[in-house]
Amino acid sequence: MNQRPQKFTAVKGMADVMPPESRLWQKVEAAARGVFGCYGYSEIRTPIAEPTELFRRGVGENTAIVEKEMYTFEDRGGESLTLRPEGTASVVRAYIESGAFLSEPLARYYYMGPMFRRERPQKGRQRQFFQIGCELLGVDSPIADAEVMAMISQFLSESGAADVTLEINSLGCPDCRPSFNAALLAFLKKSESKLCADCVRRLERNPMRVLDCKNEACAELTKGAPSLPDYWCETCRAHYDEVKRALAAMGVAYVENYRIVRGLDYYMRTAFEFTTTKLGSQNAVAAGGRYDGLVKSLGGTDVPGVGCALGVERLVLLIEQNKEPLPAEDLIFFVVMGDRARFEVLPVIQTLRRDGVRVEWDFAIHSLKSQMRRASKLNAETVVIVGDDEIAKGVASVKDMRSGEQHEVRIKDLPQHFVQVDI
Ligand code: ATP
Ligand code: MG
Repeated sequence: MNQRPQKFTAVKGMADVMPPESRLWQKVEAAARGVFGCYGYSEIRTPIAEPTELFRRGVGENTAIVEKEMYTFEDRGGESLTLRPEGTASVVRAYIESGAFLSEPLARYYYMGPMFRRERPQKGRQRQFFQIGCELLGVDSPIADAEVMAMISQFLSESGAADVTLEINSLGCPDCRPSFNAALLAFLKKSESKLCADCVRRLERNPMRVLDCKNEACAELTKGAPSLPDYWCETCRAHYDEVKRALAAMGVAYVENYRIVRGLDYYMRTAFEFTTTKLGSQNAVAAGGRYDGLVKSLGGTDVPGVGCALGVERLVLLIEQNKEPLPAEDLIFFVVMGDRARFEVLPVIQTLRRDGVRVEWDFAIHSLKSQMRRASKLNAETVVIVGDDEIAKGVASVKDMRSGEQHEVRIKDLPQHFVQVDI
């Protein structure tokens, strides 16, 4: 009857973020809050589940997401709910529902949180993944598109992501895109039998998405396909040129790639991606574009919008590749020996923590050697040693872990020693 209890593992494609990696996540999130704040963005937090219909309409019936990737379920009341596969539809829903679109149409929101898509898990591709994104609503100026790109670009560099390229394109608008789609369809029809099954389906519904297929054979077949710029109307061309002009004025580097299409139905004109060659086929770190028409299609008025979403797993993989050593933590580790020392340092530790200083210790359970090992494993900046000798003298040995320098401080003076006095 010695049955072991069942062991649990996380759901396939859904990962834990454990320390110390979580520290990197926190830094990324802090960088996002800092940079986005400088551009006038405020945080918006929306629920993780929405009525399924919101994504059907907001993401688009003919997208891979809605066709086969959503986590949709019936709740106990019989309503069909879906775990959000992306953030824009929810943000726009909230923008409309709160009435913000009427009282103050110009809004800058950023969000961060988990998204859910039932894809084939691989490096940089999960079923639960974390996005940081932004939406700039109420402006149709091309400068707004460029400003979003400038902000994401600054955020990426402040997070320590190197080797990222901004690629831009324009998908045209409902006036000019149909003629492009028709030309593309005619071109693709010629090699229909050689396209993958997904692309054959895309042909009828949204041929542009064939250009985005990850299948190499399809990519080969689309070489020589009609090119978007040949079909842009004057308005789209002028918009595109202004985006480039604004990027140049802001000193943001970019390349033009007329093959960028977005997986979501509602994009028009500007589409862009931040790509890297360092993550295999998961090469897009961030992606975004303009989506005028979405607010209206979700029940609001005709308010334009532009936004971008970034995958944190991919960003973290990229930052980790740069292998910059983590800087020493501003952490003080107390190496304590014996019961008397344990109670002598307890009030000191408490005072320090109350003053906002980060303190770690292991309750004096282990040997001096193993406590020291733990201190360096945690990358502590300072170690405070309190053993029998120190107790006898009423002092602690304070060791700077970077320089190796060590000096004595009276135990009762430790709080003042560490807490910076603001004058
Ligand atoms: P991909 O072409 O790689 O599937 P996507 O076009 O579906 O990306 P978006 O919907 O634009 O991606 O989402 C924006 C960003 O979110 C992507 O650039 C990527 O960094 C991240 N992302 C999207 N899907 C996943 C996923 N399944 N796992 C991890 N990150 C993801
Ligand atoms: Mg995808």
